[in-house]
Amino acid sequence: MGTTVELTVAAADREAAEAALTAGFAEVARLEAVFSSYRTDSELAAVNRRAGQGPVPASADFVALSARALAVARETGGAFNPLMGPVIKLWGIPEAPRVPSDDELAALAPRVDPEGLVVDSAAGTVALARAGMALGFGGIAKGYTADRVTALLKARGIRAGIVAVAGDIRTFGRRPDGRPWRIGVRHPRDPERSLVTLELTDAAVSTSGDYERYFEVDGRRYHHILDPRTLRPAEGAVSVTVLAPDGTTADGLSTALFVMGAKAGREAVEARPGVEALFVAPGGSVTASSGWPGEVPAGL
Ligand code: ADP
Ligand code: MG
Repeated sequence: MGTTVELTVAAADREAAEAALTAGFAEVARLEAVFSSYRTDSELAAVNRRAGQGPVPASADFVALSARALAVARETGGAFNPLMGPVIKLWGIPEAPRVPSDDELAALAPRVDPEGLVVDSAAGTVALARAGMALGFGGIAKGYTADRVTALLKARGIRAGIVAVAGDIRTFGRRPDGRPWRIGVRHPRDPERSLVTLELTDAAVSTSGDYERYFEVDGRRYHHILDPRTLRPAEGAVSVTVLAPDGTTADGLSTALFVMGAKAGREAVEARPGVEALFVAPGGSVTASSGWPGEVPAGL
């Protein structure tokens, strides 16, 4: 998935902890083979090769995440869009970045309608309506992976832990001393500092930022979260942190709210029970939804 995964478990003894960690990392590897955009042998790559050829039988994980991604796309008015694959590829993010021309971008517009993704959960198939369409789960698969690994650890009897797939973090249970887990949210302009620290027990937190993957041309920063309306890097935020009951929701929404920006994003969050968000605007001002737990710094 092009990133770092860190697992923490609290268990009765070292042996149980190490066995759980080994199983957890095996689950990450299994899901990477399903969802990776970096591999030509992933299930994602196989489904994309059959775009425009009708329904393709897919694994349970693939069908489940496709359905969730489509739901997030609908709930966010297309701010989250799992069919941005061809546009992400055109920008060459992250391997070979370059700024595409207006004409190149305009040519892709007919291929990114999220309704081109057709999921039949009962039949276990996924279809991409037109040739040239391509799924990309970069904005949601890390949260889904955090959820699956958490479920696996719990099924093995682990009562507390942290599953961190880069900035997509799922916590469960409490530290052995009875206190909640403490999760720092990175300061978007200073990797040495935390913007806020959250105390969490059973929760998911996801941060989308313009600093994760970007390149610069003539002093301008081009980052990896693209606005489906313009097919260019979204300009509404510097970073967005989402708290939600599960990682898939937190991850999908962090990407969507980044595109929507603080104002529209906050309205969307207020309408969703169980979800809170912290926004850093392009000018550096920091705002949060009304139920945000804990401190809200005035600015960067
Ligand atoms: P990160 O990858 O840094 O955790 P995100 O969860 O916000 O951050 O995901 C960004 C990734 O999602 C991009 O690298 C790209 O693959 C994909 N992406 C970019 N724009 C969108 C979008 N509008 N909707 C869905 N996915 C997107
Ligand atoms: Mg995301």
